[in-house]
Amino acid sequence: MQNYSSDFINQIQKYGFKAQVISFKHIKEIQLELETTKQIHKDVNTYIGKYINKFNYNVPINSLEAKSIIIIAVPQPIARINFTLDSKNHTVIMPPMYLLNSSSEFEEKHKKISEITTIVKKILSTENFKVVKANIPCKLIAVKSGLGTYGRNNICYINSESSFYWLGSYISDMPCENDFWQKCTIMDACKNCDLCLKNCPTSAISDDRFLLHTNKCITLQNESKETFPKSLNLKWHNCLIGCIRCQIICPVNKKHIKNVKDITEFSELETKKILSKTPLKELPGETYKKLELISFIEDYNLLARNLSILINNK
Ligand code: SF4
Ligand code: SF4
Repeated sequence: MQNYSSDFINQIQKYGFKAQVISFKHIKEIQLELETTKQIHKDVNTYIGKYINKFNYNVPINSLEAKSIIIIAVPQPIARINFTLDSKNHTVIMPPMYLLNSSSEFEEKHKKISEITTIVKKILSTENFKVVKANIPCKLIAVKSGLGTYGRNNICYINSESSFYWLGSYISDMPCENDFWQKCTIMDACKNCDLCLKNCPTSAISDDRFLLHTNKCITLQNESKETFPKSLNLKWHNCLIGCIRCQIICPVNKKHIKNVKDITEFSELETKKILSKTPLKELPGETYKKLELISFIEDYNLLARNLSILINNK
């Protein structure tokens, strides 16, 4: 008997991606688990409600008869970008996954995410299955489906081997022949390790609970338009967006930390235009394309602030 979900997983691996397929029946459990977390830890809703309350557990009407949830993991490098100011070169980095950073509203306009979706659709279309991109909790699904495991730093490690991945989720009418669903698991490597906890400058990772104290996490601050809180030492801001400290110190990622890719460089003129907050539509086409490459169209309004702090830190 044909096993469509195994065939899909094998096919997507040819593109260098990893995947897991679970039954669509788990959608309610996923929703319930997140709602329960919000009830128990009130700070979750306060600080990251703007992300998690956008999850949509419904299938678009008339799109397909939902039978499975597909979670895919796409390997990602640390992104390195060069800016020039006062004839000096300023090299900055972004953690893996930020090259594919997007809100659910912007995903269709995001070139690289659209390319990944096209691959998923192409594979499924050979058996006449349909698929829609979903905005559901990818990290939680990856862990509960067995594709990933949590680290103490709350980051998802694929196959307990590396956290250098972007996660995407899809809903399909493809049947799920090998459903797998487990409790959330933490990596064995974390049992005798606290390197991420000790190296988190803001104490966002702590011993008092597994869940990150997201209000302290630098990522939350530099992904937000709000002014940085006074309690945040600007020297701790280490990436153009996000924070890489707890991933780079992690021994599980040791083999992958040299996976750094030069993405693009901005000339002195371009850097000055960005720092002076020149509106996106007034930027030269070449500059716009470079911003697309580093996935900073949607978050352009964060770029001048985040970059100038990094330059001043030097
Ligand atoms: S640094 Fe140590 S404790 Fe933290 S995620 Fe990695 S292995 Fe786990
Ligand atoms: S991303 Fe940075 S601030 Fe957030 S938990 Fe990790 S080390 Fe701490």
